[in-house]
Amino acid sequence: MSESLTAQQLLRIRGKLEAIVADQPGTKHADSATAALQRMRSGEYGYCIECGDEISAARLAARPDVALCVDCQALKDEEDEDA
Ligand SMILES: [Zn+2]
Repeated sequence: MSESLTAQQLLRIRGKLEAIVADQPGTKHADSATAALQRMRSGEYGYCIECGDEISAARLAARPDVALCVDCQALKDEEDEDA
């Protein structure tokens, strides 16, 4: 059971993402922040892009541009190490 983001949290996260895009143009971080803003607009923000599970509010607060749940992130990190 994970707690969903409140409208206020979402608003704060959107501000953080917009700041990343403005402050670090052309970086990977800005790219992932832009993608997160797009997911926010389409209502998909806060859900893992791999498995569709809800990402915890605490994880999103720490890494607002995160697109994967902890499980998928761990799998991806393993793949990256193998590559
Ligand atoms: Zn996932």
